[in-house]
Amino acid sequence: MGDPQPQPLDRPPPTLKRPWSWYGLAVGGLGGLVIGGLWAWWAEVAQNYLAPVVVFPLLIGAGTGIAVVGLVRIAQIGHRATIVASVLLAGSVAALGQHYVTYLDSYYWHRGKAFQALPAGHDWSAVVDRMVPSFGQYLQSQVRLGRPSLLGYPAPAWLVWLSWVVDAGLTVAAAVAVTVPAMHTPYCDRCRTWYRVTRNGKIDLPTSARLARLAGVVLPPQTRSRRYRLSNCHGGCSATCCELSWEDAQGRLSVVQFWLDAAGRGQVAAALDTVASETDEEE
Ligand SMILES: [Zn+2]
Repeated sequence: MGDPQPQPLDRPPPTLKRPWSWYGLAVGGLGGLVIGGLWAWWAEVAQNYLAPVVVFPLLIGAGTGIAVVGLVRIAQIGHRATIVASVLLAGSVAALGQHYVTYLDSYYWHRGKAFQALPAGHDWSAVVDRMVPSFGQYLQSQVRLGRPSLLGYPAPAWLVWLSWVVDAGLTVAAAVAVTVPAMHTPYCDRCRTWYRVTRNGKIDLPTSARLARLAGVVLPPQTRSRRYRLSNCHGGCSATCCELSWEDAQGRLSVVQFWLDAAGRGQVAAALDTVASETDEEE
């Protein structure tokens, strides 16, 4: 194959900053509220059927985190602190909102039945409203009742509060744990979009050695499952991110990342075009 050696860029392009914006704050804030509210409502429905201790708040948190990642990708929000604030808000609303949804479900959404039981011909709404406890009174009554504990004893009040705090902490932690790794994907400051994979596949040994030279690494003597991945911002205005991965003889996965300008991208693409992409032979 012809060998005009493309040059990688010395460092990631300077456009890969994460600008703050009112748009990001508004969408991240509102989206966090909506996502948290939906997951709180869903959790309230689901826990009537099954709510294993520890696992349930982790699942609710993971689902909330996945939804926030989807939101920031679709809305193209790149600012790290905005994303973290959004997921903290969504996780907190999902965790604490469950109590509020249960409260609404117990006292507000079925108020029609109370009216049916009262004699007709009079507006009873003021009376019914006075009978309904406030959210604070409802929480205190829940604490007095106690959560069913493992040993069958009603839990003391401090333990109920503690268990709510632990549940909320697990939910928020799981949401953050899902979201933070997703922020490592590059983001272009010029067209304000996340990078997406434009091309990927398996490559043969000579091509992987070429890409490794570009990345400034030396491949081990035996490699398998050699793959490449090219990604770009939607506008194609920033450098191309190229990833090369392989497994060594012991099956350990290595990944290197480097950046290419337009000329380098064209040369790498031409080299990849000549490769039989299904090749995955042992050396
Ligand atoms: Zn761009």
